[in-house]
Amino acid sequence: MPVSDSADRTSDIGTDAAETADETAEGLPINELFYSLQGEGTLAGVPSVFVRTSGCNLRCWFCDSYHTSWEPTHARMTLAEILAEIESHDADHVVLTGGEPLLHEASTTLLEALDERGYHTTVETNGTIYRDAPIDLASVSPKLESSTPTPDRDPTGDGEWEARHEADRIDMDALARLVESYDVQLKFVVTDAEDMPEIRELLADLRAVADVPVSDDDVLLMPEGATRDRLAETRARVADLAMEYGFRYTPRLHVDLWNDAPET
Ligand code: SF4
Repeated sequence: MPVSDSADRTSDIGTDAAETADETAEGLPINELFYSLQGEGTLAGVPSVFVRTSGCNLRCWFCDSYHTSWEPTHARMTLAEILAEIESHDADHVVLTGGEPLLHEASTTLLEALDERGYHTTVETNGTIYRDAPIDLASVSPKLESSTPTPDRDPTGDGEWEARHEADRIDMDALARLVESYDVQLKFVVTDAEDMPEIRELLADLRAVADVPVSDDDVLLMPEGATRDRLAETRARVADLAMEYGFRYTPRLHVDLWNDAPET
């Protein structure tokens, strides 16, 4: 979904994990914090507070949270401010999302504080970073080759991120540790049938290295599209692919309800 862009911006936040060293004390770079319904995955429809961190180590050309990746916002909140804002909403579920929330060391501290307060936490991650934290559901979305910002579809037009994104988009060790450590849903953004061989190959590779079984029931196909118009083009064929391959289909409920409005 498109996200707020009201905060100050910087050009390089979140591109280097080393810069996160002092973050625990400083809080987190927050792009937006809001109350809505979870729109995707096995908890679709559940009222939840969303904490969207800014900064990502990848640059998908279709990124629907542009102001956490291509033009990351720079606003910071202390952990106390984040917790106070979360507790102002009547919700039992908190979704830590991004950007890539596990880029930030302080995400672990936040998750520990949420666990102490009894919240159910979902972490939405691209699966390239592992952190040891109290996570109730790891919603892992590995990025396929079709996400790579080739020069013809790079939103900045300079093709600067193509090689870096392609080199970093899959980290099988991190992926295996996430699957072994947490309840996981593997969520793939699918445009058409051309994505399926890569998904099956990635699952075969993951099953070969992970110490735990990876069930097809935990593999979710989500139609590509951040607007109702685009979803109208992709959702039926992705639903057909889910039935054909025996994977699960996930809607994008927030797009159906609110189209591309921010803070949904
Ligand atoms: S991994 Fe997620 S947040 Fe990062 S660029 Fe891709 S879609 Fe955007």
